[in-house]
Amino acid sequence: MENPADSLHVLIVDDEPSIREGSRRILTRIGFRVSTAENGTDALELLDKDEAAMVLLDMKMPGMDGMEVLGHIRELDKSILIIVITGFATLETAVEAMKLGAYDFIPKPFEPAQLRMVANRARDRIVLMRDAKKLAREKQRTLADLDTEKSRIRTIMESLPSGTVVTNTKGQVVLINPSFRRAFSLPSDIPTGQPIHKYVPDPGLCDLILQISQGQHIDFDDIPDYEFAVGSDRYLKARARPVLGDRMECLGAVVSIDDITTMKVIDRLKSEFVAKVSHELRSPLSTIHEQLAVVLAAGQTSAAPSESASDQQILARAKEKTHGLIALIGDLLDLSRIEEGSICQELVAVDVTSMLRDIVSFLGARAQAKQQTLVMDPPAEKIPQLQADPLALESIFGNLISNAINYTAEGGAIRVTVGLAGINVRVQVIDTGFGIEPRHQDRIFERFYRVKDDNTRFITGTGLGLPIVKELVTSLGGLIELHSEVGQGSTFTVLLPVLE
Ligand code: ADP
Repeated sequence: MENPADSLHVLIVDDEPSIREGSRRILTRIGFRVSTAENGTDALELLDKDEAAMVLLDMKMPGMDGMEVLGHIRELDKSILIIVITGFATLETAVEAMKLGAYDFIPKPFEPAQLRMVANRARDRIVLMRDAKKLAREKQRTLADLDTEKSRIRTIMESLPSGTVVTNTKGQVVLINPSFRRAFSLPSDIPTGQPIHKYVPDPGLCDLILQISQGQHIDFDDIPDYEFAVGSDRYLKARARPVLGDRMECLGAVVSIDDITTMKVIDRLKSEFVAKVSHELRSPLSTIHEQLAVVLAAGQTSAAPSESASDQQILARAKEKTHGLIALIGDLLDLSRIEEGSICQELVAVDVTSMLRDIVSFLGARAQAKQQTLVMDPPAEKIPQLQADPLALESIFGNLISNAINYTAEGGAIRVTVGLAGINVRVQVIDTGFGIEPRHQDRIFERFYRVKDDNTRFITGTGLGLPIVKELVTSLGGLIELHSEVGQGSTFTVLLPVLE
């Protein structure tokens, strides 16, 4: 690669042709590009056309003398290095020239080695100066880039439609944007730096932000969204995540806030509509179901030949279908009651162990009909009572055990266990059934989601059981987990906190 210093341009200004030519040869040989001028005027003209990095300038010339040329060159371009050539007698002139800005001098007559040394020293200096200039330019550019980047990020933050707040590890606010101030009706000039609760009125959200800021949620990749009401008619949703440094250390939290009032209103209207329709359908369907049962019963006892076997079959199927519809409506009404919040309001002390025993014995007949064993393990320790809505608990465990019976082949086994896990009561429903493929495992908790395969094709259901279970468990402050392997079976684990 070519060294940029190799082709430095040097101008030699001297009235003596031998010095000009001698110097040209020496400097060309060590890599300079050389031009020459025999007097000051020519030199300045040349410099005007072709910039030089260095000028070798004789002080004593006829016409414009060296000192004057030096002055002009300095005016033209201060970065040109000037080396003055002086006779012994004019050493003082050399000193004078240095004062005026010449870089170095070389006394006449000089040896080639002397010239090479002076020229090389000057060349090193030029290269150094160029490098320094380049560095300074780059530094300035980086600073300018940083500055633009900073102001760009600031502008983006200011324009974000979601409210955004960033806290440090102490939970103090370091950044807020206008959408955030609007969401909480904060003054537009509110300063940062205060603890989060000075800005956010919801204590639950403040606690969550504080925990995340302090690094308590680094290992969780699914921190739940936090929905809350502001006043009586506005709903907001907060999503909070830790801000992590290069070494995965927690630097604070970033939270986005969105207004979900419209969604909430639409959701409520939809739920009310479903509840109303379900309610209206329930009585006529129950009547049809009962009447079909009466006609069927009469058909089985009457000797009249008009009631053919195929009519009986049709009626039986109609009765079965109405039964399915009534179950669906029951589930829909349950869901809307849970959403309304009218379930899980009356909390009473419940003995889970005896409740589970009752459910197991009640569903025992259904398990027996499929030659399954349905047992409950006696608890290894005393299980404290739960503060809960007993109907909600019955619905949770009833659904899980019914599912275990439904989705386990004839002759399989279902086991129910109850124990303590930290501050929670842990109930497990373990079956040796069909199991659930991983791709369905999250989805079965969605409304109406049912797995359709050769095992489940003929099992009727609404696809609402598990969503109900999940809503109820969540509203009791608990968790539900599923572990399942196809062909081996499934274990549903419910954790419910023991509240004082
Ligand atoms: P439903 O039982 O009415 O279909 P659920 O919401 O209770 O509705 O269950 C959804 C789906 O999850 C079921 O259709 C079934 O495919 C699957 N499932 C639930 N429990 C089990 C289980 N214990 N074993 C295997 N699959 C199950």
